Amino acid sequence: MFIGHFGLGFAAKRVTPRLSLGVLFFAAQFADVLWPFLVAAGVERVRIDPGNTVVTPLDFVSYPYSHSLLMLVIWGLLLGWIWRRVDPAAFPVLTALVVSHWVLDFITHRPDMPLYPGGPKVGLGLWNSFPLTVGIEALLYAAGVWIYSRATRARDAIGRWGFVSLAVALVVFYAASLAGGPPPSVAAIYIIGIFGFGLIVAWSWWVDRHRSAV
Ligand SMILES: [Zn+2]
Repeated sequence: MFIGHFGLGFAAKRVTPRLSLGVLFFAAQFADVLWPFLVAAGVERVRIDPGNTVVTPLDFVSYPYSHSLLMLVIWGLLLGWIWRRVDPAAFPVLTALVVSHWVLDFITHRPDMPLYPGGPKVGLGLWNSFPLTVGIEALLYAAGVWIYSRATRARDAIGRWGFVSLAVALVVFYAASLAGGPPPSVAAIYIIGIFGFGLIVAWSWWVDRHRSAV
């Protein structure tokens, strides 16, 4: 899952207005932010395997630290604890966002999502259906963008057009990933992952500074 995670990040702004959208995106996508670093380091493994499911050409061979339920609960508690003083609801909301990544990926992936490192792997395989995948992701994303647009107000042109361009860019990135075919190499996957998420988190943090909670 890709833009569905961002949908939840956008929506969380309503319950934690004092947390930056950048932090909310970071939490909702923490698993996928951490993952490319671990793949680059050789700790976690992915294989390019066109046709693995209808939607993704990737075979997630092993990702116990970034994508197991137990580790995401631990990462979630850690992130919540770090930001607990910024917003009264930060602790439960950031923890829930980090863990929500596992739940959405569990729905999406074939059974490759570990419950804990070395433990059984589960997954409902939504990725076997292209229309269902895109439909559910689009719905989550649209709902999140709408909630964020209602929970905040632009203070200036950056707040307005930065938000619009961010919301459109994420859809473009998603469409490109669906249409683009398999990546050329594992290195390309982690390089795009590291810089892509870095850019998105920075962009959302910048936009959010130019909007006020209402
Ligand atoms: Zn993921």
